[in-house]
Amino acid sequence: MQIRTILLTLTLFCCLVAGLSVLFSYHQSQMTVLAREENNINTTAKLLAVELETALNNYRKVTSTMAAMSATLSVMAPENRTSQHHYAQAKALLNKFCINNMASLCYLMSPLGEVIVENRASPEQSLEGKNYAFRPYFSHSLKAEETVYAAFGITTRQRGIYFGHRITDQNNQTLGVAVVKVPMENFERSLAGLSGASLLLDPEGVIFAANRSEWVLSSLWPLSAQEQAEKKTNLQYAGLHIADLGFRFNPDRHYLLNNKEQAYYIGAAPLQNLPGWQVMHLQDPHQASPFSGSIIAVVSLLFLVACITSLLLFRVGMGDLKRRVTAEEELKNSEIRLRQLTELTSEGILIHHQGTIIDSNHAAEQIFGLSREELIDTDIWQLMAPESVATAVHNMQSGYERPYDIEGRRRDGEIFPMQICARDSLLRGKGIRVCCIRDLTQSQKQVTDRLSQAIHIAREDHHQLSILYIDLDNFKRFNDSWGHDFGDRLLTVITQKFRAALSDKDSLIRFGGDEFVVILQHVDQHNPALTRIEQLIRILNEDCLIDDRNISLSATFGIATYPEHGSTPKALLQNAELAMYRCREMGGQGFYAFYNNEMSAQAKYRLNLEQQLRHALEEDELSLHYQPVYSYLHQQPRLCAAEVLVRWHSKELGMVGPDQFIPIAESSGLIVEIGNWILREACHQGAIWAAQGHTDFRLAVNISPRQLQQKQFIDALKQILKESGFPPNRLCLEITEGMLIEDDLFAGQILSQIKASGVHLAIDDFGTGYSSLSYLKRYPFDYLKIDRSFVMDMEQDDSHQQLVKACILMAHGLSLKVIAEGVETSGQLHYLSQQRCDFYQGYLLSKPLARACFEAELENSQAQTALMAEAEHADLSAAL
Ligand code: C2E
Ligand code: MG
Ligand code: MG
Repeated sequence: MQIRTILLTLTLFCCLVAGLSVLFSYHQSQMTVLAREENNINTTAKLLAVELETALNNYRKVTSTMAAMSATLSVMAPENRTSQHHYAQAKALLNKFCINNMASLCYLMSPLGEVIVENRASPEQSLEGKNYAFRPYFSHSLKAEETVYAAFGITTRQRGIYFGHRITDQNNQTLGVAVVKVPMENFERSLAGLSGASLLLDPEGVIFAANRSEWVLSSLWPLSAQEQAEKKTNLQYAGLHIADLGFRFNPDRHYLLNNKEQAYYIGAAPLQNLPGWQVMHLQDPHQASPFSGSIIAVVSLLFLVACITSLLLFRVGMGDLKRRVTAEEELKNSEIRLRQLTELTSEGILIHHQGTIIDSNHAAEQIFGLSREELIDTDIWQLMAPESVATAVHNMQSGYERPYDIEGRRRDGEIFPMQICARDSLLRGKGIRVCCIRDLTQSQKQVTDRLSQAIHIAREDHHQLSILYIDLDNFKRFNDSWGHDFGDRLLTVITQKFRAALSDKDSLIRFGGDEFVVILQHVDQHNPALTRIEQLIRILNEDCLIDDRNISLSATFGIATYPEHGSTPKALLQNAELAMYRCREMGGQGFYAFYNNEMSAQAKYRLNLEQQLRHALEEDELSLHYQPVYSYLHQQPRLCAAEVLVRWHSKELGMVGPDQFIPIAESSGLIVEIGNWILREACHQGAIWAAQGHTDFRLAVNISPRQLQQKQFIDALKQILKESGFPPNRLCLEITEGMLIEDDLFAGQILSQIKASGVHLAIDDFGTGYSSLSYLKRYPFDYLKIDRSFVMDMEQDDSHQQLVKACILMAHGLSLKVIAEGVETSGQLHYLSQQRCDFYQGYLLSKPLARACFEAELENSQAQTALMAEAEHADLSAAL
């Protein structure tokens, strides 16, 4: 009884304190809210403007690159205007470029304004042949080199920003104008999700973009008759009548009033890319509660609620305990019901907590051949083939929720294909992951069955049979950019397209995520496989329209023929798959390759290589070479860095080049161990050189995508730096574009972590992959390495010269330093230095050197630098 009274008194006291603090903070906040709101709104507008400007600058660079592309220059050269070859090449490249940069249209106009080529293959209304010289962005680009112009499309009836850039030849003669149109939605994303209204306004107050769709293309305040007339004539708004929202300024222009006399605070920031335009943010001051700014008020309110609740709880007392017991029973029952449900499905279900299995269903027991008791407390990774563990761990860590294919391992060690679809959840407050597992042996069985039938028929009819193994190129990109639903729809469309192109007798089987198997029956001289394959490629390359997006795809085809390349379903399938992989490896992405016996020999060689590589580390067969990288100061080379390159001298196979064994190390997962060794060796060596007084050069280490995907990579890197004592800012990691295409989100996170640790980052082999400029913008790179293929061909191929020039300009625009790889002639060096390339690496200057030779080069360079400094000092003294 006594305790009750004390508690009650305490609660009443709390309420009193809470009430008083609410009153106090209300008074305080009323005084400051006005100033703070205004400040906040202004800051929001400024931040929005910065974000928009960054995006606009990025697209300006995209457009300037498009204007400098070799395909653009070729098709726009007057002598090539009628060439079908140049036209087709430019069209294909423009389309790829357009998709990669998420633009809606990319086209090239002649100096007279006629559209020569656009990216879309077969649009309903083609722009080609039409003259758009009247468009302001065309004339502006001709006059001012480049333009940014916002407009509402006359034909498309959609808002967009047009980026124009003059196309010039070597002699600065105008060849035309390159135009990139970007849908407004690409920019509008930065406006979304904010409270209040965020707007992009033209000079007269017309809202061109907003997070309130109903306000778009109205003017914030009334337009004069002359302004309305101008809007119609300049076609910026395609003749629209612009209604107004009826806002007006209060006399001191501090806020806007709407037609209901409600006041909105405003923050505005001008845009440099669109002169006269501004970003505006509006906030209704009455909506912005004075409490919102005051933490004390919120805390007090919570305190008040807590007091009342504790009073109620005190009264409710025992009754609640009883109910809790009932709730727990209900929870148990629902778990039992859930268990019963999971037993009904034919898919295996495994529930695990950070890899340790805590529950399973009957189907899972059957798939893996293990009882529930055996499964529970087992590591889920033990149920997978070793090569698949890294993928599964990565997907778990990134919370990936879509189905993906890997290999499972049964009790007896049998490896089988399986599909996992997993989702994070909570069980009794503990984070768990529920995995649905499908045994894909069945779908392989389906292929095998159909193949056996087909082989049987072919044997009877004395016909040939062709098996196509088709893998779509970079399909993941579509899922990542536009969502998985989009990817699914795209796959359905592709399946339909393939079906339509095949005869009734042929079979099409979807074989995992983005892989297909086609069995072509009755292949003979009159009906050769090749024509039919080429037709499939053509159909696939044709644009398809999904959600107003023009998609063009490609796939790599591997072909095996019965009876030439095998007589069993297993052999044929394996060989077709091998042919596909070989085709891709040889740079034949988007094309096809027939299986040949050499491939099989190569596969065996690779297998042997892999076996040998497994022992390379313990046998001490790996070593590091260092290729110097120079800068030029007063025409004197200065050693600034070295690229660390691994060498393998196998006792069995002799010297094996990294081009040969690195891909094998990657596909077998050995790269993780080897890569760590390389990093550790390099850092220790770097630290030794630093201790010897060589303190002003960097070491660049190549890192493979597979290494970066390891969760432990960052920890390992930090550990190596710590134990070796090599300063992080002297280390640079070289990363190829491939990694960025494969995994956008993850790559962004890991690269930022590396950057935060002080280590520098370089994008390697730039220009060989998709080279989307957005990668450079999105990820925190310090250096760009132009691939040696461009540097090598520069002297023969003018377009490569232009490309290198554009790359350097663009990199500098983004504050990146440029390293040219593979400099072999003084002509190349000269051209690169004219373009203000920052660093040079190549056989002209030095081949990769073994440690001792590189040390000599280091000493030499130190002596040179000292001499130069002395000479400079002497010059200076003489001058004085
Ligand atoms: P990369 O990273 O682009 O390395 C540059 C390659 O270009 C090296 O070949 C280098 O010897 C070669 N090179 C440099 N200057 C010239 C030149 O003037 N002319 C010619 N023709 N070639 C030149 P290398 O050492 O055979 O390495 C090939 C690739 O193997 C590397 O390309 C890199 O992708 C990979 N690699 C090499 N070492 C490592 C490593 O330690 N770790 C990883 N993950 N990959 C490595
Ligand atoms: Mg490299
Ligand atoms: Mg490279």
